[in-house]
Amino acid sequence: MSVRVRFAPSPTGALHIGGVRTALYNYLFAKQQGGKFILRIEDTDQNRYVPGAEAYIIEALRWVGLLPDEGQDFGGDMGPYRQSERKEIYKKYALELVRQGKAYYAFDTPEELEALREKEPNFTCNFRTRMGMSNSLSLPADQLQKLLDAGVPSVIRLKVESGRDIFINDMIRGEVVFSSDELDDKVLLKADGMPTYHLANIVDDHLMQITHVIRGEEWLPSTAHHVLLYEAFGWADTMPRFAHLPLILKPEGNGKLSKRDGAKFGMPVFPLAWEGETIEDNFPGFRETGFLPQAVLNFMALLGWHPGGDQELFTLEEMIAAFSVEHISKGGARFDYDKAKWFNQKYIQAMSNEALVEHIRPLAEAKGYAVSDRFLATVAGLMKERVTFLPDFVEQGYYLFEAVKDYDNETLQKKWKSELTPVFEKLIDRVHSVATFEAAEMEGMVKEFIQEQGLKPGDVLPLLRIALAGTMKGPAVFDMASALGRDETVNRLRVALHHFNQTVATV
Ligand code: GLU
Repeated sequence: MSVRVRFAPSPTGALHIGGVRTALYNYLFAKQQGGKFILRIEDTDQNRYVPGAEAYIIEALRWVGLLPDEGQDFGGDMGPYRQSERKEIYKKYALELVRQGKAYYAFDTPEELEALREKEPNFTCNFRTRMGMSNSLSLPADQLQKLLDAGVPSVIRLKVESGRDIFINDMIRGEVVFSSDELDDKVLLKADGMPTYHLANIVDDHLMQITHVIRGEEWLPSTAHHVLLYEAFGWADTMPRFAHLPLILKPEGNGKLSKRDGAKFGMPVFPLAWEGETIEDNFPGFRETGFLPQAVLNFMALLGWHPGGDQELFTLEEMIAAFSVEHISKGGARFDYDKAKWFNQKYIQAMSNEALVEHIRPLAEAKGYAVSDRFLATVAGLMKERVTFLPDFVEQGYYLFEAVKDYDNETLQKKWKSELTPVFEKLIDRVHSVATFEAAEMEGMVKEFIQEQGLKPGDVLPLLRIALAGTMKGPAVFDMASALGRDETVNRLRVALHHFNQTVATV
């Protein structure tokens, strides 16, 4: 049977970065096995539905390049892939279980359950309590019929038989056992006719012929109910295999990474920026921070998956080839933001200047810089060893696009002397008339000039650098000059000379 896996997020808000990892592992597994990766939107919980969340999920998958073979927005012939459009299907299956005596109508209301829990905090509806409650198992037939005829609201619950051990052979955790005595009679269909997650998830995994369920560890306890549902429907022999992924932990390793940790540690924990209802619900994204999607995928892949060996940089193709569920750890994986930044640096450095232009152009345009692709490619080449995030090209390297805003006055105090003014003026003349404006030629010319003046490179080059960029950091000074071109370089040297004399004189 060919492999079919699904990513089944609920559109309850921005997709947490952990969700991207779940999608990635599903994708890698599908591609490696020559199978299909499916996107199913689990939107049956209307209380938690958040407008815009589905579009966000799809945009996030597109951004990182994990394109489903089938699914909401991606076509396929096992749809609809949005659960709210499959309501009637679930109802039919729930009623079938009632007919077979494997599920039952329950008339308990949320208020009644609340009252029972007040008396007994651990109260659940199960094999011990169900006969004392109002439902189709406990009520006499005529009374039941009356309630149903009168349309009294009811839910459908799964009848969990007592005294059973339920075994799950998890691909990551090995054998996990649950006792049915500890399980409640889960609601399958709510009073409003909507299915719960459990019912919809199992019916859809079956109908969509899902072979492997790869999802977060938080779903492991639900799996016991899921196994019972497969059995109740008579689908046990085609039940998917389960793999429950480890938690993603906070940077210090204590506890689960939460959306609030982003603000706390100054890092994104969502793939894309999200605007919520309130300021506290606005979150930055990896994309807007300036990560390359490939870097994010590589970083996420290794949060829990250990391919063995020293290789850390993997293209998507290499990940597909090397991936194996057996090499996913059971223990949580620490979200190491410094590592994420390291990956981004590596990916930026490895990218061609021309490819980087595609990423830098919108950032440059947003700042109002009108520049050619050729110039942007030069900027990419000059800066790529120095940046961490994409916006650094235009922010750290702003002086490649516009006049220097700040001079490193501290260094100037040490290096500038007004006696250097005539030397600098002469240098400006030489720069002005150098035959070609190539870095190597200029370097030769300037070094010769320095010697001629009886000075040392350390007396002049830092000043030249500050004149062009304002800072001691940044690309090699002659590369910068060459990128800026003759007129701009000469102009900057003149402006700087004026500034140098003013700054040092006024102190
Ligand atoms: N809708 C569930 C979620 O939001 C899906 C869990 C599963 O994959 O079964 O994560």
